[in-house]
Amino acid sequence: MEKIPLYIDNQDNKGSGKSFKNYNPATGEVIHEVSGTSPDDFEKAIHSAKQGFKVWSAKSPTERGRILQKASQLLRARNDELAQIEVMDAGKPIREALEVDVTSGADCLEYYAGIAASLHGDHIDLGGDFAYTRREPLGICAGIGAWNYPLQIACWKAAPALACGNVMIFKPAEVTPLSAYKLAKIFTEAGLPDGVFNVVQGDAEVGQMMTKHPAIAKVSITGEVDTGKKVMAASAATLKHVTLELGGKSPIVIFEDADLDEAVHGVMLGNFYTQGEICSNGTRVFVHASVKEDFLDKLIQRTRALKVGDPSDPDTHVGALISKDHFEKVMQYIALGQEQGAELACGGKQVEVKGCEGGYFIEPTIFIAPEDNLRIVKEEIFGPVMTVLTFTEEEEVLQRANNTPFGLAAGVFTRDLRRAHRMVAGLEAGMCWINTFNINPVEIPFGGYKQSGIGRENGLAAIEHYTQLKTVYVAMDKMVNPF
Ligand code: NDP
Repeated sequence: MEKIPLYIDNQDNKGSGKSFKNYNPATGEVIHEVSGTSPDDFEKAIHSAKQGFKVWSAKSPTERGRILQKASQLLRARNDELAQIEVMDAGKPIREALEVDVTSGADCLEYYAGIAASLHGDHIDLGGDFAYTRREPLGICAGIGAWNYPLQIACWKAAPALACGNVMIFKPAEVTPLSAYKLAKIFTEAGLPDGVFNVVQGDAEVGQMMTKHPAIAKVSITGEVDTGKKVMAASAATLKHVTLELGGKSPIVIFEDADLDEAVHGVMLGNFYTQGEICSNGTRVFVHASVKEDFLDKLIQRTRALKVGDPSDPDTHVGALISKDHFEKVMQYIALGQEQGAELACGGKQVEVKGCEGGYFIEPTIFIAPEDNLRIVKEEIFGPVMTVLTFTEEEEVLQRANNTPFGLAAGVFTRDLRRAHRMVAGLEAGMCWINTFNINPVEIPFGGYKQSGIGRENGLAAIEHYTQLKTVYVAMDKMVNPF
């Protein structure tokens, strides 16, 4: 069985930490052994990153962009192979991985490759004297990934970091170790100097090595809210910069004038794509009471037609949940929803998939909830479980939509232009969609309000989070000495 190594200095590194197993969520079978990262290995990664930073930060931005551009081309050329790796590692349907996972990573590299050479400071005229600002890299950045979009997350962190002249040590989630390693090898092939993108493998303990290490200037993590809090607390000891991309329980509001077919499409996309394992999912669906019956009829009919199955089958719409533990957690929420009085309108059961008997499959599930106070309405489930609630007044639904500690995303479906913009102005969420949902091209900033995160990924906004500003005052005349 292939053993996945660490990747330090553009080379495989066997690692001396405790190795661990990597499972295919669709079958429950072990697919790889993975090298673990010991504190000594981590020091090697740091040493290598320090050397890498000297070389990389001295390169011209155009040259940095050229290498990122090449990496993006290599990703696209290997789309199918990498998509299959994501399917095997994360259990997501191949039809999604072929379309989204690799291309969104490649888009991100391409976008920041294009931006690298245009980064600049400002000139500030002081009437004789003047000042200028330099936008400088932070140094060694740590990237810590979640397991739902392993390759995309690695690219979303690496691309802006590297474009700005930083170097990165990246730790993928323990359960999805493969694609970050493949990305590192692609970077090597694209000409990235040694030490600019190192990959360490392991669990939270390795994550803690990153958040504690004084040589690391910044940590960018995608993960749960509680993990984000721990990362921020640990980073505070050395005042690291942090970007936190955390969980959500996002609302989708469907007004009575909405195109109901489009709205159904939006809520399905926002709940069942990647088995519901998407941070920005709109799992609280508020539908106007006057269109509730129509909406539910269409929604349930279309949801029942989804095929839950072997993720490598091109006909499959809904794949396997990431692990046994996570599967059990989602099933417990489904049981809890029923105990607390929500009506199970669709799904709710485990699915046995032929040829994937050891996998973790759950039917796309729709609850009709009598009120907002149920745990399935309030807590992030991170599986294919949607709750539908009803409302009658705009002000009321806005207040209910915002009544959550999360603030990652929100969606509004209506044909009324003014109402749409009024609603999104009032919604406490970092990412809002009007008449669509969960579309995240790299050009637009993405990130959360409230406990869903700090900082932004993608767009020009990410540049702010991977650079620091140096101000230089230039005296053009002799100093006036007051003493
Ligand atoms: P976790 O919070 O469990 O883990 C995220 C990463 O952090 C993993 O690599 C994990 O290691 C690591 N980690 C865990 N504890 C610590 C620690 N104390 N210090 C440093 N690193 C640590 O999240 P999941 O992987 O389970 O991902 C699901 C969560 O991610 C959901 O809440 C989801 O909403 C959120 N998410 C947010 C996104 C966003 O952009 N806002 C996008 C995608 C997901 P390991 O798992 O290997 O032990």
